[in-house]
Amino acid sequence: MNKNNNTCLLLLAISLFLSGCCSTNRETVYQVSTIDALLQGLYDGQTTIYTLKRHGDFGLGTFHALDGEMIVLDGRVYQIRADGVAYLADDDDTSPFAAVTFFSADRTLALPTVTDLSGLVTALDNALDTPNIFYAVRVDGHFSYIKTRSVPKQQKPYSPLVEVAKDQPTFEFNNVRGTIIGLRCPRFVKGLNVPEWHFHFITKDRLAGGHLLEVRFEGSEVLAQIDRTSEFHLVLPNSPEFYHLDTDRDLQDELERVEQ
Ligand SMILES: [Zn+2]
Repeated sequence: MNKNNNTCLLLLAISLFLSGCCSTNRETVYQVSTIDALLQGLYDGQTTIYTLKRHGDFGLGTFHALDGEMIVLDGRVYQIRADGVAYLADDDDTSPFAAVTFFSADRTLALPTVTDLSGLVTALDNALDTPNIFYAVRVDGHFSYIKTRSVPKQQKPYSPLVEVAKDQPTFEFNNVRGTIIGLRCPRFVKGLNVPEWHFHFITKDRLAGGHLLEVRFEGSEVLAQIDRTSEFHLVLPNSPEFYHLDTDRDLQDELERVEQ
């Protein structure tokens, strides 16, 4: 075997190794911190946007000091601040809580009879193989009405999220094109992430959006894509605040108030 063949074999081995390790990572939900830590006011950034991008091109979260809603879509990280405007996040910005994955649709779902958020949830739930794994979902199309919210940047000492959410700015969109970004976690993630569905929205021009509160649309005008994900990688904060956090409290009531 000549030297060129050896070089080819070496390159083949390297590319197989790389594709093997990346394909494993691509089917993982990579999460920073826990929803209960966020609910209790742990808003200091733990992970850079650069690191999040290395673990996913799709997802949800928030920013250091709770400075807006995070949308990760097609590899870009958008920050919807309290003015409702979407800014591109810098790689060295940080996040106290986020969950990302690499999106690759396993199935596409038409929603001909769906008209609102509860109908969307029911249709998506009916399309799942099991409620016991993670799903990333994107819903692209034209929406007759959308209502979102964001959260204002906080100052220390941080208030719990349920207090912050009382003053959340909301935004309404009529006849808008855009993308709903959804993450569905199994119910047993309670305390770690939001059980069941969590949706954000961004307009097609990627200029505005937020945490999704309400949506109305003609089902024939939107298309859902669903990505199954069975692996979960949780990165916990290495901070004194997290080390001393009371993790015994059940915060589901607070979570439900925050999500509405
Ligand atoms: Zn949200």
